[in-house]
Amino acid sequence: MSQEIDTEKLDLLAFAAHPDDAELNAGGLIAKMTRLGYKVGIVDLTAGEMATRGSVASRREEAAHAAQILGLAVRENLGFPDGNLSAEDPQAKRKVVESIRRHRPAVVLAGLTVDYHPDHYRGGQLVSDAAWLAGRTRYDTAQEPHQVKRVLHYPEHFVKEVSFIVDISEDFDTKRRAVLAFASQFYQPDSAEPATYISSKDFMGFWQAQARYFGGLIGKTYGEPYFMHEPVEVPDPVSLWS
Ligand SMILES: [Zn+2]
Repeated sequence: MSQEIDTEKLDLLAFAAHPDDAELNAGGLIAKMTRLGYKVGIVDLTAGEMATRGSVASRREEAAHAAQILGLAVRENLGFPDGNLSAEDPQAKRKVVESIRRHRPAVVLAGLTVDYHPDHYRGGQLVSDAAWLAGRTRYDTAQEPHQVKRVLHYPEHFVKEVSFIVDISEDFDTKRRAVLAFASQFYQPDSAEPATYISSKDFMGFWQAQARYFGGLIGKTYGEPYFMHEPVEVPDPVSLWS
């Protein structure tokens, strides 16, 4: 999908180091929000050119297909270097701030800042820092400043700490279809491409089991965990748990 300029205000904007990270790790929440009528976008930070399988062109088509399945209002790719994302690069930070100020989301999703893959934790930090900068009146991008209400971090390779779990039982099937839109990355018995962890025959089973596990913790069929640095306010615990 092209780098379209979309000035439409979004409710939720998910940033992902690689095209398919948002689907794999936050696809349930994204699908749920679009089903409930919110405007949601995904901004991929890199085109995935370092991936073992597929190509940048096939990944771009897969990302557009996944965007349709999820009902996204916008999907962009910032074209940062795959395998070499930097949380410190001022140019990259500026591009993320510009994206946030263009779409003006209340809530931003970003990768957890602890992960096995450097792009994941650096991307998570880059987005978190840019979300703060987007609200600073003296950080000039020739756009209005925009205060993001919350940055929610989604775990990727492993889960460190959970602040809350979203019930995605009704949306798990949509999430799975959006993930499988990235056919080049996952198990295909006839593929001649090199095997990876996520293309192994077992991976989708592990992935589904994690959603079942987090669903089980809240008494639901499927769940998706999120971490936020700030404490969560609960105005009325009795009403919440009655
Ligand atoms: Zn990734």
